[in-house]
Amino acid sequence: MARDPLIFAATSDLAGKLRGKAFPAGKLEKRLKSGVGWVPTNALITCFDSIADSPFGSLGDLVLMPALDTLVAVDFEDGTAPERFVLSDICTTEGAPWSCCTRSILKAALARLKDCADVSLNATFEHEFQLRDAPASPGSAFGIEAFSAARDLGETLMGALAEAGLTTDTFLKEYGANQFEVTLEPQHGIVAADEAAILRALTHMTARRLRQPVTFSPIIDPGGVGNGVHVHISFVDANGDPATHDPDGPGGMSRVTQHFVAGVLKYLPAMTCLLAPSAISYTRLTPHRWSAAFNNLGFRDREAAVRICPVTAKKPQDIARQFNFEVRAADAAATPHLTLAAIVHAGCQGIEDKLDAPVPAQDDLSELSVSELQARGIVRLPQTLQEALNAFAENATVRGWFPEGFAEVYVAHKNAEIEYVKDLNEADLHAAYADVY
Ligand code: GLU
Ligand code: MG
Repeated sequence: MARDPLIFAATSDLAGKLRGKAFPAGKLEKRLKSGVGWVPTNALITCFDSIADSPFGSLGDLVLMPALDTLVAVDFEDGTAPERFVLSDICTTEGAPWSCCTRSILKAALARLKDCADVSLNATFEHEFQLRDAPASPGSAFGIEAFSAARDLGETLMGALAEAGLTTDTFLKEYGANQFEVTLEPQHGIVAADEAAILRALTHMTARRLRQPVTFSPIIDPGGVGNGVHVHISFVDANGDPATHDPDGPGGMSRVTQHFVAGVLKYLPAMTCLLAPSAISYTRLTPHRWSAAFNNLGFRDREAAVRICPVTAKKPQDIARQFNFEVRAADAAATPHLTLAAIVHAGCQGIEDKLDAPVPAQDDLSELSVSELQARGIVRLPQTLQEALNAFAENATVRGWFPEGFAEVYVAHKNAEIEYVKDLNEADLHAAYADVY
């Protein structure tokens, strides 16, 4: 008997997970037209599989519509069945994008950017993760021994990413205990978010095959560093020419970059729950963990929520192309599509309202008083998921970026997650998230 290969149609959901259903690969043509059945209440399934109070109950039908250009087929050539999956939009049965489809939400955000500034973006998501169940390895930060011990994992992962059509950039032993980082080259628009989702899935698939389980959980040891997702962004104009940089602008930022960054900084506290959406994300977003604790702009400062990154190019046109900034307040509990959508909407708001960016700084904000921070227009980011959710729920501008009904579903979903973890002690809480991300 021959095996019948299956393709998993996946939505990158509100819990930051890929969920969906599979169909025989031979039926791909048909499924591209008819989709795969899906259910509204699935958007209320938390990362722990608890289900929030659903406005939909048992009612309603949706379809997962595979996006063919995201089809991944990776044969690990180790005797295990090849992995086949395809990212999909959630549509109504009439074919319209559904209000809680994160890919459709991102497409709308990118269209807004085109409309308001006539630019589009290139982006890449830097990912950190940690080996689970690995013995402590003191002295291994960026070390060759720990790297060598993980060489099988790194090389198999690079191979899997390349076979999936992703352009790999680096694999490194990060600073933290058993912590690694993997980066991809920037891609245009939605492809960047699609690749981030694919990268997380392929990393787990690789790790499972090598019996070296990993987690992208925002932080596994409250006394250590977190696992960040840093979103690097640059702009190109309608001709494909770089539009991020102006050698005479503050920090080297072009006009559009300044407004965009100003929007991200202004709205960051009200959208942190979309970028850093777990109950433990807020342990990571504290000073001196090289993550982000304030809504500040830094010049080459790894403690800044938005950092203007270094450029190694020398020629003006190469500098213009390489110039980028990164948003550091995100983690892998968030779906990359929602993370990028929130960033882009905030940036568009900044462009439309012609907001001015602050002068990028390099000082330690944790040493400033609240009034000193206030004078500079800087606030501490929310310090719990509940606080972050409240800031989102109270901000009509931010809620208004999303389709009708989305904010209510998102808040209900996250409240159920808070409810699920509320009685866990610190160790169990961190272990619970390490299990699911
Ligand atoms: N681990 C840090 C974070 O949680 C980032 C370290 C770095 O790559 O700069 O974002
Ligand atoms: Mg890093």
